Amino acid sequence: MSVPSERSPLFGRGTLDQEAGSRDVGSDGANMSAVARQAVTERGRRVRRTLVLVAIGTALLLLLFISYSRESGNKSYAGPGGAGGTQGTNETQDRVLREIRAFINPQEDPCEDFYAYACGGFLRSQPIPPNEARWGTSDLMEERCSDALLPMVQALRSGRAVSRTASEQRVVDFFDACFAAGQPSAADIERSGEDGLANDASSELLNASGFGRILSQLETIADPTELFAILGEMHRSVVDPGGNLPRPFFSYEVLPDGMHPEVMVLTIEQGGLGLPTRDYYLDEYYKDILDEYSNHIGRMLTLSGTDQAEAMQAAANIVEWETELAKASEAEADLGDDAWAVYNPTNLTALQHEMAPAIPWTNYLESLLAGTGKNASAIPLVVQWPPFLKRLSDMVALSSISNETRKLSLYLRWHVLNAMAGAAGNSSLAAEHFRFFGQIVEGRRGLANLSSQCLALADAHIGDDLGRLYVQRFFSPELRGKAVELIRSIEEEFAVILKRDDGAWLGRSSLRAALEKLRLVQNNIGYPDRWPDYDTLHLNGSDLLGDVFLCRQFRNDAILKQIGGPRNPSLWDMTPITVNAYYDPLSNSMNIPAANFAPNFYSALYPEAVNYGALGNVIGHELGHAFDSGGRHYDAHGRLSNWMSPQAVQEYDRRAKCMTNLYDHFRVNGRPVNGRLTLQENLADLTGMKTAYAAYNRLVKEHLTEAARHREWNLTRRIRPDWTPEQLYFVAFAQTWCENETPKYAMEGLVVDVHAPNRYRVNGILSQFPEFAEAFRCRSGSAMHPRKVCALW
Ligand SMILES: [Zn+2]
Repeated sequence: MSVPSERSPLFGRGTLDQEAGSRDVGSDGANMSAVARQAVTERGRRVRRTLVLVAIGTALLLLLFISYSRESGNKSYAGPGGAGGTQGTNETQDRVLREIRAFINPQEDPCEDFYAYACGGFLRSQPIPPNEARWGTSDLMEERCSDALLPMVQALRSGRAVSRTASEQRVVDFFDACFAAGQPSAADIERSGEDGLANDASSELLNASGFGRILSQLETIADPTELFAILGEMHRSVVDPGGNLPRPFFSYEVLPDGMHPEVMVLTIEQGGLGLPTRDYYLDEYYKDILDEYSNHIGRMLTLSGTDQAEAMQAAANIVEWETELAKASEAEADLGDDAWAVYNPTNLTALQHEMAPAIPWTNYLESLLAGTGKNASAIPLVVQWPPFLKRLSDMVALSSISNETRKLSLYLRWHVLNAMAGAAGNSSLAAEHFRFFGQIVEGRRGLANLSSQCLALADAHIGDDLGRLYVQRFFSPELRGKAVELIRSIEEEFAVILKRDDGAWLGRSSLRAALEKLRLVQNNIGYPDRWPDYDTLHLNGSDLLGDVFLCRQFRNDAILKQIGGPRNPSLWDMTPITVNAYYDPLSNSMNIPAANFAPNFYSALYPEAVNYGALGNVIGHELGHAFDSGGRHYDAHGRLSNWMSPQAVQEYDRRAKCMTNLYDHFRVNGRPVNGRLTLQENLADLTGMKTAYAAYNRLVKEHLTEAARHREWNLTRRIRPDWTPEQLYFVAFAQTWCENETPKYAMEGLVVDVHAPNRYRVNGILSQFPEFAEAFRCRSGSAMHPRKVCALW
């Protein structure tokens, strides 16, 4: 997240993000994972702050999971992974508890490397599946979620059409089209690397559907006016609404206005890059990938029918063009905390005549807004980073003078191909797309199976329809009630912490504003109160790319329709089946999708130590974003505001700097973690730990009955006879972050992910939290109990 404010997901990359591919659940998504990766990446650039986690895998555990999912047919089953409800059997309870024990490595010293202790068993027993770039706890949860959903989808497909709702019909149509489209074989992917693929130019793929129409329009562009009209259409229909695919030239989001959050504005942001971040173009470390990127673009263009010599020349031009855009882009770490610098309200006249005159904005906006009925000249606009737009405008001007429209149209052609390839079924484009993004960029070895891949794509395009299926079956009012209780307890504890010593360094006036902000956080739990209105979205059921195009256009239009008016609360940034969460400072709200309310985050069969250690920290983390170094610039209503006194800001910055320094010293394969890039997330983690732990202690001391306290101890002892519930709390927290990663994925994370590597999300936070050292009786001076620590609150 670059932008200042941020709604941030808990997990950064990878998890499943919504976009195509993002949902790399379990064994799926491989093909799209490339896309997914971009998704994650882009998401990072956007305004929300999230949580993010990951997944798993030993044979034993796999069996365990399979048996969990089998239970889904039975009444006592209350959620993927077993036991979202209270009526699980003893046997189910044994399984969920045993898993916690299986993930640890008791040989490790918890006071030296707690991540190795809490996750050692996981790391050893859960290798990365061939089709994944990483495998962690959240991936495991998403896999269970898929395992629960796929049979439901299958039952719908084989059921009678007349009995389906419109939402169910879309699910059937989407899967029918996806299964019919198929996917490339492993041999196709390998051949792609050897130039052995036939081109797709004559196939229906490139001629049918909206994508095909845009590709042919690009062939006949005569001047920049036409070019930017097509760009508007691409931003409306080709690129996914989640912002997970790169948007050519620049990007946009529809966000609350920083000074008038009751009005949504079109926010124009830097963008235009096909690779995950500017570092890939500017840092010598990524040179091999950049070289291969150029080959990849050349191949994609050739496969789509561009003459090979022209395609290779175009690829070099495109890399050069994107490198210039990378230079004009501000680093994420620099954009991150300065909410004021990225709030630049403007209007069409100023944009056209002063900020970026070479871009025909009216042509662009008219086609972007074609589905909304909005008047392009009257919409409210904000520019995130004016120097980027200025530079882009100069580049466009130069290219017009040199009459290089063809160069730019090939740049757009490449971006259309890139945006459609993840849904291009069994085609050469899909094979080459996976070879580059899946294998070379992320280090995946193979594709997921088709069902999983279709589920990932469906989540990205009709995720609310899948979400309805999921919540009807697995998200009971009882679970929602539990969630409300858990959130309330953490908010209350946060207030207690803030109020201590009369606000301590915050001072009284800032304390009042902070408490008001905390009080007004809007908690969106599980799924939207009203499902988005998809009544007019009818899929075709036999043409996957056509359906994907329709879905993207429909969703983008729904988002764009908000401009000039209030936020549409039905439009969440994550689907209900996403294992992740986000906080949005511009509306002071947090969203926690339904899929989080399942093991390994939550179960009625767990001791509360696990629920607070895992899900409690997820919630505390998101609340923490309201007061992180970006979020603190916004008040209780989401308005940019200096509500902290200058003295408080000074002290806040000093405390935050301690965290920046701490993380700057962590290393992954010799490369440093970026303490500034990850600061907001690290501060949110620290707040999450402090508030969730306090809430857990209050629960035990003041709210649990004697019998419930007994249960807490008994269940803890069933997991490990020598643990206390407090120790279990910390283990549960750490285990939400267990994750194996390919080396490439880990390296990419250092520059792409606003979250620190998982090992440091655990050890970094717990080493700064003296209650941890106390629970494990760590000696002062040990790695997990340093003599000096950072603290925010
Ligand atoms: Zn976060």
